[in-house]
Amino acid sequence: MKLKFYSIEKKVKIYLLNAPYLPHFTRDMRWQDTGRAGVFYYPVWLAYATGILEDAGFEARLIDSAARNWGMEQVLQDIGEFQPGLIVLDSSFPSLSHDLSIAETVKTKYPEVKIILVGAPASQFAETILMTDNVDFVARWEFDLTLKEMAEVLDRGGDLQSVKGISYKNSNVIIHNPNREFTTSEDLDKLPFASRVYRDHLNPKDYFLNYSLYPEVQIFTGRGCPFQCTFCSWTQTLMGRKYRMRRPSNVVDEMLWVQDNIPEVREVFFEDDTFTINKKWVLAFTEEYKRRGVKIPWGCQARADFDYETMKSMREANCLVAVVGYESGSDVVLKNVKKGITVAQIRQFAKDAKGAGLPIHGNWIVGLPGETHETIEMTKKLIKETNADAITVAVTTPFPGTELYEWAKNKGYLVTDDPNEYLDNQGHQKSIMSYPNLSSEEVAKIVDETLKGYFLSFSYIPIAIRRVCRRYGWDELRSMWHSAKAFLRYIAKR
Ligand code: SF4
Repeated sequence: MKLKFYSIEKKVKIYLLNAPYLPHFTRDMRWQDTGRAGVFYYPVWLAYATGILEDAGFEARLIDSAARNWGMEQVLQDIGEFQPGLIVLDSSFPSLSHDLSIAETVKTKYPEVKIILVGAPASQFAETILMTDNVDFVARWEFDLTLKEMAEVLDRGGDLQSVKGISYKNSNVIIHNPNREFTTSEDLDKLPFASRVYRDHLNPKDYFLNYSLYPEVQIFTGRGCPFQCTFCSWTQTLMGRKYRMRRPSNVVDEMLWVQDNIPEVREVFFEDDTFTINKKWVLAFTEEYKRRGVKIPWGCQARADFDYETMKSMREANCLVAVVGYESGSDVVLKNVKKGITVAQIRQFAKDAKGAGLPIHGNWIVGLPGETHETIEMTKKLIKETNADAITVAVTTPFPGTELYEWAKNKGYLVTDDPNEYLDNQGHQKSIMSYPNLSSEEVAKIVDETLKGYFLSFSYIPIAIRRVCRRYGWDELRSMWHSAKAFLRYIAKR
């Protein structure tokens, strides 16, 4: 299919949009919702794409309407002023219907503009999306380099057949070009700094992670995770399982850049699937961090399987938190979801982390396959025992494209098969799996009770004091206060 809508002299302008939906809703979260603890993610994928397009000479504009508190009228007006040739529309499973209605609204007002939809649903529902006629292209899986190639082809009137990873319609026939290979470690080293895009297009003060100092920036040091957890969405719909990483020196370059250029930022958070996969890499990074005298602290997503030596080196290199997926206190449940970690390992990990002085934010999930009232009690007991600095407890969400989703669907455990029904009217994740011995309502209730039991009990006071007494105590207190207010608002509305 040949297509040309701008001359070579005038490069296509590109508008990247996190469109209005629920307040504080970000599509680039792993578990998309409006955040019970006030969490508000950067549109991290759109930011990488923006930087790549700018480096390739395109004029790009990144708009996070949730951060700006913009409604659709403001977005339409802004599009009219910027006059893009291509709009990159981010999507997520719980917002997909809404995202398609956004595409329709934009097309109605600006029929000549081309729209490309990106995000995890693109890899699962390309046909359905294109059949709406309001979306011209879909970029499947990891999409930032795809967008660059796509923009170049559109610019020179090239052939879309050559762009790997996209789907589109040609004379009413839907064409799926072959998948694009995932980025390599070498590719990641050449990517622009997401932090630069945040500074140029967004306001870091708009974003908040309850486990990080405020304000922070979220970047990738690596992408992909080789583990097989059946519930994990990004590995199965977006990032892939191939692990690739930047050079430690490249990551440190970005941290120094943040220190010099966005001095109000207090922490860099590594939003990788799993930062601690490669011990040699982590030790090389922590050495580089210390050798070059970086000051800004950092945090990361991790697995509960790295050793004491790694923890120590992370702590000595100013790591403030590792956000770890513990998931369950039952070996049966952990095995059912192919977590590759046992309860004994979790216990040892928590003990080692305490010994190394490495703060841990523990993530737990209720309602995974094999869950019973008994296993929930085991989880509650392990939550107490591991005594993390903070926790998240989530209901199980089987995102389309995951092994968990297929399993739940085949077993008839899904309350709804429509991901657009995944959020409640406050924008929080709904419990949508019901087992014969454990209903979806029970799971939702247990999650709330567990969170209340943790944060609103006397036993949390020493944990909170421990946090506040640390080096960045005042900043920790501010973050805790912000997230406590959001959590209390959430509880009050239940
Ligand atoms: S270890 Fe974490 S990122 Fe990797 S597959 Fe499991 S849940 Fe996903």
